[in-house]
Amino acid sequence: MAGQSPPTGEPLVPNPMFVYDEALTELVFRYCGDRLSLDPVPLDFGGATTESLDRRLQGLLGPSGNDPAKVLDLFAKHLATAVVSCDSPRFLSFIPAAPTKASLLFDMVVSCSSLQATTWLEAAGAVAAENQALRLLADLAGLPPGAGGCFVSGGSIANLSALVVARDTARPQAGRCPEHPLVAVSTESHSSVARALSIIGARPLVVPAEDHRLTGSALSASLGAEPERADVVGVVATAGTTNAGLVDDLQGVSEVARRHGLWFHVDAAYGGAALFASSVRERFAGIEWADSIVIDPHKWLFAPFDCAGLLYREPALAKAVHAQKAAYLEVVHEDEAADDWNPSDYAVHLTRRARGLALWFSLAVYGTDAYSRAVEAVLHVAQSAAELVDRAPHLELVRPPDLSVVLVRRPGWDRHRYQAWSLQLLEDQTAFVTPTTWEGETVARLCFLHPHTTLQMVQEILDSMA
Ligand SMILES: *Cc1c(COP(=O)(O)O)cnc(C)c1O
Repeated sequence: MAGQSPPTGEPLVPNPMFVYDEALTELVFRYCGDRLSLDPVPLDFGGATTESLDRRLQGLLGPSGNDPAKVLDLFAKHLATAVVSCDSPRFLSFIPAAPTKASLLFDMVVSCSSLQATTWLEAAGAVAAENQALRLLADLAGLPPGAGGCFVSGGSIANLSALVVARDTARPQAGRCPEHPLVAVSTESHSSVARALSIIGARPLVVPAEDHRLTGSALSASLGAEPERADVVGVVATAGTTNAGLVDDLQGVSEVARRHGLWFHVDAAYGGAALFASSVRERFAGIEWADSIVIDPHKWLFAPFDCAGLLYREPALAKAVHAQKAAYLEVVHEDEAADDWNPSDYAVHLTRRARGLALWFSLAVYGTDAYSRAVEAVLHVAQSAAELVDRAPHLELVRPPDLSVVLVRRPGWDRHRYQAWSLQLLEDQTAFVTPTTWEGETVARLCFLHPHTTLQMVQEILDSMA
């Protein structure tokens, strides 16, 4: 056309959002550096309310932007402080976090490089590294050389993804096709298992736990008593219950599972990290028979959120169930070599962050001995804390810990009193410890995970229960 200039190498409409900004980079990197250098990380949580937070955020998002220094300042002063730092060694609630310094830094590399690891075609380098980390977990569990899977966002999605495979695989294999399949679970199975069963249209066959553990004999008895036992397609065992850190009778359950042709899923989201600890390794005997295993590195394997390892004994079974087919995706599978690996084929996801890389980098930098020492250190703190509880005249140890969860009874306290104490403890920045229920009774639950939690910190908590 007359008057039109020839194509140039410049963007048609340049936009500063896509231009390197040294000052902005310095600003954010300095914040990250400061955060990484905190030792110990403070608990925080300054009693913010919806109202106070809304006031801070009011008008921030609008047609024109803000000075990044001011936005970061608002975040640092008023938002970050309204989040309890789960990587503080004083955070002992729920499941804490303790990501290694190398893993946190490499997470920035993953972000700054926009690393995704969805298919081999796009991201072979990232997938190969993730698979090296998965292989290490598979070896610890004793899975055969063909085992594999992918990293997903958490134990919940991992449980769901594995149970979909259990539902769609075990049925035809055993020559049965129940309309409403059942999956055997225990009373102590994680809440996400019940959610997953509901999503996939399966019902739980709740096997009564024996001393809070699922055992082979209880599973066998339940299957015998179940009139529709041909409809049972799988069993979920827990290696490290979230409430009390107990490991099911994996060996016994695996034997019954094989006898009945059930898919054997092991939920080791929290406890699987203890495979690194030779002192407790024998509690996990039988895990090598699993058809699928979940281990969350974002819990006790010191990786940043969100990172859960999902492994299958025979990955081809999972691929047959999970691989997505679409016109625009055909190229992914078209010229596939036999050993090409698409993480998207092994769970209920497609696009995924290369979330296993931070773990991989950290393992490569520090070596597995450092991981073993860190996990053993946590087990040691938990044992020592249990001894302190046992010796405290005003407290009772509910049971000796199997792994790193310690349940503490304060005779004379009701739920209300435990809750008031928990809030006060957080307000004083002594610790974040929340109550749980054990055999119908409220008790305090201390979940140890940070290798740098000290016995002095524990003693302060116990003293506050006097
Ligand atoms: C934490 C946990 C889950 C859920 O994992 P998320 O990563 O929180 O989704 C599942 N099972 C067990 C045993 C857990 O401890």
